[in-house]
Amino acid sequence: MDLSLTEEEREIRDWVRTFVTKEIMPLEQGVLERERRHERGMTLEELHALQGKAQESGFFGVQTPEEYGGMGLGSLMAALIEIELGRSFVPFKLGGEADNILFVANDEQKQSYLEPTISGERYSCFAITEPGAGSDARNIRTSAVRDGDDWVINGEKTFITGGDIADFAMVFAVTDPDQHRRGASGESVTCFLVDREMGWTSAEIPTMGQWGPASLSFEDVRVPHSAILGEEGRGFELAMRWIGKGRFMLPARALGACERLVEMGLAHARSRETFGEPIANRQAIQWMIADSAVEIEALRWLVLTAAWQVDAGIDSRQSQSMAKLYGGVQANEVVDRVLQIHGGMGYTRELPIERWYRELRLLRIYEGTDEIQRRTIARNLLAGHASVRGHLG
Ligand SMILES: Cc1cc2nc3c(=O)[nH]c(=O)nc-3n(C[C@H](O)[C@H](O)[C@H](O)COP(=O)(O)OP(=O)(O)OC[C@H]3O[C@@H](n4cnc5c(N)ncnc54)[C@H](O)[C@@H]3O)c2cc1C
Repeated sequence: MDLSLTEEEREIRDWVRTFVTKEIMPLEQGVLERERRHERGMTLEELHALQGKAQESGFFGVQTPEEYGGMGLGSLMAALIEIELGRSFVPFKLGGEADNILFVANDEQKQSYLEPTISGERYSCFAITEPGAGSDARNIRTSAVRDGDDWVINGEKTFITGGDIADFAMVFAVTDPDQHRRGASGESVTCFLVDREMGWTSAEIPTMGQWGPASLSFEDVRVPHSAILGEEGRGFELAMRWIGKGRFMLPARALGACERLVEMGLAHARSRETFGEPIANRQAIQWMIADSAVEIEALRWLVLTAAWQVDAGIDSRQSQSMAKLYGGVQANEVVDRVLQIHGGMGYTRELPIERWYRELRLLRIYEGTDEIQRRTIARNLLAGHASVRGHLG
């Protein structure tokens, strides 16, 4: 078993590491100052300019197939890149990506939705959650009723990331109420591509993080039959494919943050003296550092194993849930300890620790809460779909 990186993997990882250090980290102070004024840390124009710089070196569309101008890299490489990007809280992502389910679009839809999303001309949002249906996503109530060649959508979506800037939404609506009542969501829900101009409205939801998701309102929004993404009645499967696309990517980003946070903790522990000695000499501080380092290492292998399984075509659902659960819980432990090591300074807005503290909390909620991941993990074991011996058997 060889757990080392190939030369090519190392080169790509190191390029991103250098880009983050030279181009992204210098922006951090400015981002913090803007956010303190309740402005976006980075405007879309600034994001595009920075993405353009990365693109000049070929870093565009990490997992986007080469036929669409992307790098066509696998999940393992995507995870390694995400870890590096996570080392800064600047809200940066490499350009050239589109939601995985847009690739099932027909040719016409690809031209109108997929390609402009990859090029950054259009913004999408994924809208399944509703005020009455979050973890229990099968319980959605938004309806789409056939009227001649059109469908008429009514309902409310909530907590939709990017919903305030998106110019189109991938909306999940019940198209077969009878089947839905019988619990057959696999046949009763359809995904529609709905432009904002077709009539939906959005309102930002303030959160404890630095940016807010939005609620979307659909009141008699009329869309053509051609707005259906994939097959009528098969939307729930698409929704699960979107959510399952790479659960390891969220903990990968958090892992990068944890590495940086512990490095900050180490530096502070070495330099801060109390009672005539650096706090690094105290066992209480050392234990916080040691526990964090062990958890970071464990998380690294959970994330990379899940990503590797995706590339190898192995069923990765159990590993992905484990990486997501462990990443969410432990990242919150790590940031809390690093804040503690910094004492009063950790609690101030002089340092980014309190920002990370608020941001990382989200990881335990979206794309499947801790409890839902535990439910998945336990059910897989109880039903015999997964073994405590892992994929090695
Ligand atoms: C910032 C943010 C961004 C988001 N972005 C999107 C997005 O882009 N698109 C989208 O569609 N959604 C999005 N969401 C929604 C997110 O996926 C849901 O909030 C999440 O799935 C939880 O659903 P809920 O909030 O309705 O909580 P609920 O489902 O009401 O759960 C409440 C509590 O009960 C627990 N619980 C629920 N069921 C069980 C059970 N069976 N066993 C044990 N415990 C249980 C939960 O774990 C949780 O602790 C976002 C949410 C946030 C906060």
